Amino acid sequence: MERSEISTLGEFGLIDRISKRFENLVPSTIFGIGDDAAVIDGGDEYILTSTDMLIEGPHFNLQYVPLKHLGYKAVAVNVSDIAAMNGRPEQITISLGLSNRFSVEAVDELYEGIKAACKSYNVDLVGGDTTSSPAGLVIAISIIGRVAKNKIAYRNGAKANDIICVTGDLGAAFMGLQVLEREKEVFLANPNMQPDIEKYEYLVGRQLKPDARMDVVFDLDEQKVIPTSMIDVSDGIASELMHISVNSGVGVKIFEDKLPIDSQTYETAVEMNLDPVTAALNGGEDYELLFTITPSDFEKLKNHPDIHFIGHTHNDATQNQLITKGGNVFPLKAQGWKHF
Ligand code: ADP
Ligand code: MG
Repeated sequence: MERSEISTLGEFGLIDRISKRFENLVPSTIFGIGDDAAVIDGGDEYILTSTDMLIEGPHFNLQYVPLKHLGYKAVAVNVSDIAAMNGRPEQITISLGLSNRFSVEAVDELYEGIKAACKSYNVDLVGGDTTSSPAGLVIAISIIGRVAKNKIAYRNGAKANDIICVTGDLGAAFMGLQVLEREKEVFLANPNMQPDIEKYEYLVGRQLKPDARMDVVFDLDEQKVIPTSMIDVSDGIASELMHISVNSGVGVKIFEDKLPIDSQTYETAVEMNLDPVTAALNGGEDYELLFTITPSDFEKLKNHPDIHFIGHTHNDATQNQLITKGGNVFPLKAQGWKHF
């Protein structure tokens, strides 16, 4: 039998392949695979559900990630997917894979972070599963949320000439990871050296303690704005913009000088010989919200302190572009885009 490497498909190709094999059989399944959360008819409202798994190694390194922060983050990244549908979270279940490296106290610490997140997002932990995992810590969280049927925001609703908005700032979590990795190396080489991360506090905080932007979901509701499309920024804004482009069938044009980049992100990138704009576009783990609005809603949001207007959509879905400060045009790619 033929054997193909998963790397030939990549993550998105593999999900595509899986999704093509299934058609929805149940009438209450409104939207299945392909957005931040699945959408289920719940009567008056839609029920939203999503799941995210964090694995020791690819997703976190317990040498520098405190378990309490990890617990908080595991919940926050799930809440972020509900926020990305313009919904509100309600319940989570947690499945844990543990090795005998973990003590009861370690599990307590993890759950302290989980509890803090449940409190801050107002969600209930209602179940889960516990099993042994010789390979290391695994945390899989499923989340359930709700949204009014007329307020849901999919990835596929952007129209030409919508305004592209992003919350917060970009690239900081990625730079925080670079700082932690660098300090780890220094510490391993010389255990007497205390890691010097005070100067990078904001970046490290963005990496270790991301917050889902439920505040923005509530602000949008208050201003009576329903985004035409929305996605959360988990893989880097370039990749997320491409999802909106492909799903909505529009092109995106964004402007380098409009990208929100914190000064600490900028300075640390330069210090590490990295390009700040590449960090902002491709860094990932920002957990901000990227969304489009119809131009007539601009007035309602223009004074929001934490929403940035970075570009607009247009008719040609094949042209996804970044306009640099110097006016040059670069095609946006999901990954590996290099700034000149
Ligand atoms: P996000 O980054 O927002 O969590 P992903 O890129 O992980 O979203 O997933 C994209 C879509 O593919 C989602 O609808 C998700 O539920 C679905 N998906 C991911 N992995 C699988 C899988 N192994 N089987 C079925 N659906 C999957
Ligand atoms: Mg998402």
